[in-house]
Amino acid sequence: MNTKMKTRSAVTALATFAVLGSMTMSTTQAVAAPPVVNMEATVLAAQIDPRRADDTLTPGAKDSVLAVERALQARNLLDAQWVDGYFGTTTIKAYAAYQRSLGYTGLAANGLPGASSLAKLGDGRFTVSHVIKPGSKVQRDGYVVNTRTQAMLTEAERLLGRRLKLDQGSYNPGGDPTSAGTHDGGGVVDINVDGMSAETRTAVAKAMRQVGFAAWVRSPSQGNWPWHIHAVAINDTDQATQAQNQVGDYYLGFNGLANHRPDDGPRVPIKTWEDYQRAH
Ligand SMILES: [Zn+2]
Repeated sequence: MNTKMKTRSAVTALATFAVLGSMTMSTTQAVAAPPVVNMEATVLAAQIDPRRADDTLTPGAKDSVLAVERALQARNLLDAQWVDGYFGTTTIKAYAAYQRSLGYTGLAANGLPGASSLAKLGDGRFTVSHVIKPGSKVQRDGYVVNTRTQAMLTEAERLLGRRLKLDQGSYNPGGDPTSAGTHDGGGVVDINVDGMSAETRTAVAKAMRQVGFAAWVRSPSQGNWPWHIHAVAINDTDQATQAQNQVGDYYLGFNGLANHRPDDGPRVPIKTWEDYQRAH
């Protein structure tokens, strides 16, 4: 902001103050409403931006990410040069440090804004809209998932008109060494595809994508595993780091594997579970 603009806003502020002088305090505060952080947009940026090869911003997230970054900067956790609306690896690290400063550990300090840490960060600085909650842990086919993932699976089953059986669930640290840590946190499942044709496997992956999973059909030629569908619930704030990276790769058109090949799955417009629910 240049000096002339500064002077003009100071004059405007003075004039506004004079007009509001006789009003009550609460009315004055209503005029200067705090910024609103859209949690869905912020969490989306925090999954995609660390995987970008350039400094493109995630659409619709800039103002929210800026408000979060300013709050981290105010706590001396983020240098001014990174307050730019881009939720890259430096901002992820700063957010994880902030979560640890609250006494959070493990998945609660994964660098992805969760509902409680974000509300605390916003205290006196911003309010939070579009709050996402992964919900509590429940059992499914003998595996653990959270209630958000469970609801997504149930809707995918309804779209397909068939039951989906899990091969692996979430919150499973060290469970399957071939999964590279993706199942350590929330939002991640493997679907059993035994007996399914190639066409059916693709249809299942498509339905899962439609309800908000980053989902891929995995073949034995890609790794030391049987045919299955690996899926990560986009915007699940309990995701382990590897799962966050897979969601970012999915948005950017990759397959989510270490070989970083192009996405080989059925293309559908990318939506989160919350997007899907608003549209149905
Ligand atoms: Zn998996």
